Amino acid sequence: AAEAPEPLEVDRVTVRFAGLTALDDVSFTVAPGSVHAVIGPNGAGKSTCFNVLSGLHRPASGTVRYGRQRLTGLAPHRIAALGIARTFQNIVTTEGTVGDNLMLGRHALTRAGFVSSALHLPHAVREQRAHLARAREIAELVGLERHFDAPVAMLSYGDRKRVEMARALCLEPRVLLLDEPVAGMNTAERAEAVEVIRTVRAQLPLSIVLVEHDMGLVMRLADEVTVLDFGRRIAHGTPDEVRRDPEVLRAYLGT
Ligand code: ADP
Ligand code: MG
Repeated sequence: AAEAPEPLEVDRVTVRFAGLTALDDVSFTVAPGSVHAVIGPNGAGKSTCFNVLSGLHRPASGTVRYGRQRLTGLAPHRIAALGIARTFQNIVTTEGTVGDNLMLGRHALTRAGFVSSALHLPHAVREQRAHLARAREIAELVGLERHFDAPVAMLSYGDRKRVEMARALCLEPRVLLLDEPVAGMNTAERAEAVEVIRTVRAQLPLSIVLVEHDMGLVMRLADEVTVLDFGRRIAHGTPDEVRRDPEVLRAYLGT
């Protein structure tokens, strides 16, 4: 039985890179079960924010908490094990079939993992079957069931992006971090991606944090939006509220 997600709290986080402040005292809270978008122009600090959430960057100051658990200072695999899974802005999967890639995600869940399944121990065989069944369910959820046995390299760009999301979902996350899920997609692929994210959200007990450049997508998917510009939080609210915010318009239109 899956537990409900807890609030994910970014509390006054600052990240510096050799003289450049990539995130400057940024705070926001992702409500359990919600879709929270982090938007902003190029270089605003969106990916840096994700890297802090997933443990790749350690902030100079500030804290990230998931429920009562402090995430700042934990290694990326520990954060993933707490149920916080991410995708990357650029596709990282190029080898194996869709099924292979999803099973890699499943193996990251089990302590026994590859060793005992390679030895064909009975409990490992049973476990392997259960993982395969779940990987197929997740493939179906994101619309990849037809491609389960296809090499990832043969898929369209949009489908490869689905593989990335499905692989993250194979960790059974309580929080799914999506870094620019529709970047590089054509209009049809974007519309499909919106449907996939909606389906995932409706079917699974998780919160979604979405970093995105595409305002249209954010408006259609997000419950709450945090807007960054030059590393600072310049606005926060519902999509309708931030869309009308003069500071946001200035940041996007450069006026
Ligand atoms: P976004 O994802 O919103 O486009 P980033 O978080 O990638 O923005 O970058 C924010 C700022 O931090 C940019 O000015 C970028 O050049 C800088 N930056 C990001 N990562 C690094 C790094 N590893 N080293 C130095 N500067 C970086
Ligand atoms: Mg980025």
